[in-house]
Amino acid sequence: GPAGAGKSTIAKLVAKRMGYIYVDTGAMYRAIAHFLATNNIDIENEEELVKACESISVSIQYENDAQQVYLNGENVTPFLRTEATGNMASKSSAKAPVRAALLDLQRNMAKEYNVVMDGRDIGTNVLPNAEVKIYLTASSKERANRRYKELIAKGENADFDKIEANDEWYSFLYENNGEFLEIGKGATALLCTETNGRSFTGVFLGVYTENGKITVNNVALREL
Ligand code: C5P
Repeated sequence: GPAGAGKSTIAKLVAKRMGYIYVDTGAMYRAIAHFLATNNIDIENEEELVKACESISVSIQYENDAQQVYLNGENVTPFLRTEATGNMASKSSAKAPVRAALLDLQRNMAKEYNVVMDGRDIGTNVLPNAEVKIYLTASSKERANRRYKELIAKGENADFDKIEANDEWYSFLYENNGEFLEIGKGATALLCTETNGRSFTGVFLGVYTENGKITVNNVALREL
């Protein structure tokens, strides 16, 4: 689903409850972005970018239940959530060599472990045969609200009405996500406008364990 839908919140809750590994693919894109930025790689220069991607190895480890991302052996987790890394990630993740570099890694993780994998292209491209696929979205109001809170938390100026009405925000979403935002075959589309992640965890697990397949119509929201 799109940015601001609540994917990571819900995926983390589901993984914890199932005893599965939560894989945050955005963090992997951010790790590559961190490498590209700190090594001044010109991402518009295809040859340079391909060479850089070939020299990168990204791995994920879990320490005290928290995902740690290693890039060529160095723990880069503290650098991943910065504004600069996020901006670079949104540009570099659109490049084919970057996506190719992460595809096998993500597929291998799913082959080896029980995972809840979070990312916009997982159900369509990375794991088209996943046991359960969920396309999660939220109303534009809710997503704009989350964006607003994010900006305020970063100490930036934000005006909710402007964000909601702002074409820039919608075109940002479209440009950054449009390409991958198909609903994967066999996926259930859920519109999640509530912020209460707990009840949605109940939905997924309840349905998953009952019949191994999810249909929106007979989903009953329940608090765990
Ligand atoms: O979700 P997060 O903000 O951490 O993602 C960082 C960047 O990586 C975003 O720009 C997003 O577009 C990109 N991304 C992607 N495919 C994924 C996960 C993230 O292109 N599966």
